[in-house]
Amino acid sequence: MKYSIAIDGPAGAGKSTVAKIAAKRLGIPYLDTGAMYRAAAVACKQNAVDVKDWDAVRAFLPFMNIEVRYLPTGEQRMISDGEDITHLLRTEEISQGASLVSMIPEVRDYLVELQRKVAHAQAVIMDGRDICTNVLSDTPHKFFITASAEERARRRVKQLVEQGQPADYETILNDIIRRDKQDSEREYMPLVCKEDTIKIDTTELTIDEVVDALLREVRE
Ligand code: C5P
Repeated sequence: MKYSIAIDGPAGAGKSTVAKIAAKRLGIPYLDTGAMYRAAAVACKQNAVDVKDWDAVRAFLPFMNIEVRYLPTGEQRMISDGEDITHLLRTEEISQGASLVSMIPEVRDYLVELQRKVAHAQAVIMDGRDICTNVLSDTPHKFFITASAEERARRRVKQLVEQGQPADYETILNDIIRRDKQDSEREYMPLVCKEDTIKIDTTELTIDEVVDALLREVRE
């Protein structure tokens, strides 16, 4: 694989599921960059830094110490200050915190540098919000994976119910709409789909259909 694969799209569109399967099929590493912004939000929370207070986050940034590690199985773990915090990343509070902390240019620059280091050594598949437009803008393999907000909320509810967790459709839909707005309207590196990027709407597609469509494009 000569070039890396870049995937962007809104929250809950199935990017990471698709990227993980495609990475396995191609035999290249997968980097979930959303997990890195989530780790930054956890680091702020653990140090009582308010993610809405940009100056406080900027003052904390030199002490932020985030690392990506891979298990032999290929699973990505997030490390903050030497501690594995992967189990703390997937809450609604941290989803919202990640979206807020990701607006701060200095935080983005810090994490983008780490992302580029991972992609420097080898071809990878990476998903996020600014991968096609910024982090891997040189790659010819760029994808925007999306679905309607309602479908994304339905999928999230299903996932939570399967895990035996409480799930309220309206609350989840509102969280998704708020995060979409924040991610696509922020000033620095917003989520956008440019003309050089292949858009795949997954609302009516299965995961396998999306993976097949993506790999077909890459092979062509
Ligand atoms: O993809 P995920 O939902 O885990 O991302 C959490 C948040 O991190 C997003 O809502 C977005 O604000 C931010 N993010 C970003 N740029 C990326 C990846 C994630 O701004 N490349």
